[in-house]
Amino acid sequence: MKYYRVEKQEEFSRRTLRILNMVPDIRDILCTKQGLEAKRNKIRATLNAIMANTYDETPDIPSLEWVLTHDAIVAWRNLFSKRNASLAKFNFPAYLNGLANGRLPADQDPPSSGFFAELDHLVRGIAQCTRIYPEQIPAFLKHKGQKAARLRSADLSRMAKTGRRFMERYASGLDAGVIRRRSRNKLRILKKFNATELEWNNWSWHCRHIIRNADTLASLVRISDDEFQAVKAAEVAKVPFGITPYYLALLDNRPDSPHDRAVRAQVIPSLKYVQSISESRHQGCTSMDFMLENDTSPIEAVTRRYPNVVILKPVLTCPQICVYCQRNWQIEDVHSKTAAVSTKVVNRAIDWIAKNREINEVLITGGDPFLLSNSRIEHLLRRLSANRNILRIRIGTRTPVTLPQRITDALAKIVSRHHIPGKREVVIVTHFEHHYEITPESMEAVQKFRRSGINVYNQLVYTFYNSRKFEAAALRQKLRLVGVTPYYTFNTKGKDETDDFRVPIARLLQEQKEEARLLPGTVRTDEAVFNVPGLGKNYLDASQHHNIISILPDGRRIYEFHPWEKKLALVDTYVYTDVSIHQYLKRLKAAGENGRNYRSIWYYY
Ligand code: SF4
Repeated sequence: MKYYRVEKQEEFSRRTLRILNMVPDIRDILCTKQGLEAKRNKIRATLNAIMANTYDETPDIPSLEWVLTHDAIVAWRNLFSKRNASLAKFNFPAYLNGLANGRLPADQDPPSSGFFAELDHLVRGIAQCTRIYPEQIPAFLKHKGQKAARLRSADLSRMAKTGRRFMERYASGLDAGVIRRRSRNKLRILKKFNATELEWNNWSWHCRHIIRNADTLASLVRISDDEFQAVKAAEVAKVPFGITPYYLALLDNRPDSPHDRAVRAQVIPSLKYVQSISESRHQGCTSMDFMLENDTSPIEAVTRRYPNVVILKPVLTCPQICVYCQRNWQIEDVHSKTAAVSTKVVNRAIDWIAKNREINEVLITGGDPFLLSNSRIEHLLRRLSANRNILRIRIGTRTPVTLPQRITDALAKIVSRHHIPGKREVVIVTHFEHHYEITPESMEAVQKFRRSGINVYNQLVYTFYNSRKFEAAALRQKLRLVGVTPYYTFNTKGKDETDDFRVPIARLLQEQKEEARLLPGTVRTDEAVFNVPGLGKNYLDASQHHNIISILPDGRRIYEFHPWEKKLALVDTYVYTDVSIHQYLKRLKAAGENGRNYRSIWYYY
C-alpha cells in the first residue's frame, strides 16, 4: 500500500496529536501498536466510561457542560460504529488512526482545515473545554428573591438587546427610507417601459414585461459583471430566468448594496448554477429530481408522501424562478404559456383524489397556481370542494412576494368562497425569504386574504443568504406584523447546482435554539424541517430523528435521517452529506460576519 510522503505524514500526525492531547486516554489508545479493531473497542469503552461519569454527581462541573459532553460522546460513538462506517462509505476510525500514527494511505483524501476544526470541537466536547459559555456563572444563581429576579431581569435585557442589535442590521422593506428608494426604482422601470402607474398595478402587465435577459436587466438596474455573465449564460443554455418588474424594483440600484443580497441571490443565478444545470441536462441526468417526485406520483399532476395529504400541481411555471427551486427540473420557462396542465389531466387527478377517500387535504402548488386565470382557480376549488372528504385546501403561492398585484379583491373572494368554518378550511402558504421582501404591496396582498378570513402561512427556505445571526428572526417578527404565520423553515436541498445556497444542518439547529428561541411563542411558530427525498419531512428539532454518522476528510458531516413513519413502517433511512461548517463560516467571514457569534455551531449534531 502507498502512503503519503513522510513530511506530509508528520504534519498530519502533529496536527492530529495536538488536538488529541486534550483527551490523553483516547490519544494513547490510538498510538499503541494494536490493530484497529482492538483500538476501536478500547476507545468505545473509554467513551462509555466518560458517559457513565456524566450520570454521576460532579458538583465542580456546571450541568450544561455535562450536557455538551454527553452530546459529544453520542457523536463519537456514532463515528466509531461499524454500521455507520458502512452506511457512510467512509471509515472514520481508520482515517483518524492513520492520521495519528503517520500512516495515511495515499488513496485517502488529505485532511482539510474543516476536518481538523471538526475534530478539535469533538474533542473539546468530551474534554469539557468548549468555551461557548461566558467565564462567569450568572450572578442571579447566587441569590434568592427579588435580588435574584432583578439580576435575572438585567441578564434577560442584555440578551434581548443583543438580539435587537443584530436584527436592526437588516433593512426591512417597510422602512421609510427603503420605501422611498423603491418608489424611485419603480419610476425608473416605468419610464423604461413607457408605462403608467395604472399598468404597474395590473398583474398582467407585469407578466407581459417579465425581464428575461441580461441586456434588459442591465438597462434597468446596476448589476455586477458576474451577474451579467451568468444571466447571459442562462439565456444561451435556456435555463429559466425571469424577474417581474415589481420584484426588480426591490433590488437596490447598486450591485454592492449591503441590503439586497438576499433578493438578488433569489433570482439572479450564479454562473456555476447555470453551468451545472446545463451539464445535467446534456447528460440526461435524472438526479435533478432531488425529491424523487417521479417515484411518489401515482397519477399525473399528483404527488403523495403522506396518508392524508396530496400535492396537486395544475401549473408548472412561476412568474419568476427561485434559483434553489426543488422543482427546477420540471419548470421549462418563466411564466410559460404552455405550462398549465390540461383541464382533462387536472380533472382526472381530482377524480383520483376523490376515489382515495382517506385523502382529506390537498396542497395546490406547482409552479405557482395563482398564475392561472380566476376562472380556472374557481374551477379547481369548486371541484375539490365538491369532495366531502376534503377538510383543507392549501394553496402554495409566492405571488404575494413576487407579484402582489395578482392578489385582487376578485381572487380573494374566489378563494374565501370555499373557506367554510366548521366544514372546510382554505389557507394560503406563501414564501417570503427575507424581510427586505416585505413591502406595503405584499402586506396589502396578505391583508386581502386575512380580511376574507383566510390564514396565510410562510415557508422559509434557510439559505446562506438569510442565515446570518438573527436574520430569520427579523423576518419572523415582521411576518407576524403583516399577518403571516411562520410555518416551516426548510433546510436547503442538497442539490449540486445550488451548493452556494446550502447551510449546515448545525446552523439551522443553532438558529432555532439560540435566535428563534428568544422570540415569543406566537412568533416562533415554525418548525425546522429537512424534506427527505421520497420520504417527506423530518423534524430537525428532535435529535432522535437524525444522527451524525461520519465526518469526511473535507470536513463535511454525514447524517442518517429517519423517515417520518419511523416505528410505523419498515421503510428505509436516508444518508445525507452536509456542507462543511468550516467552509460555511469562512463564507460568512468573507461577508463581514464575526465568527465568534457563531462559535457554538460545532456542538449541534
Ligand atoms: S415559487 Fe416555488 S415553485 Fe416557483 S420557483 Fe420559487 S420555489 Fe420554485
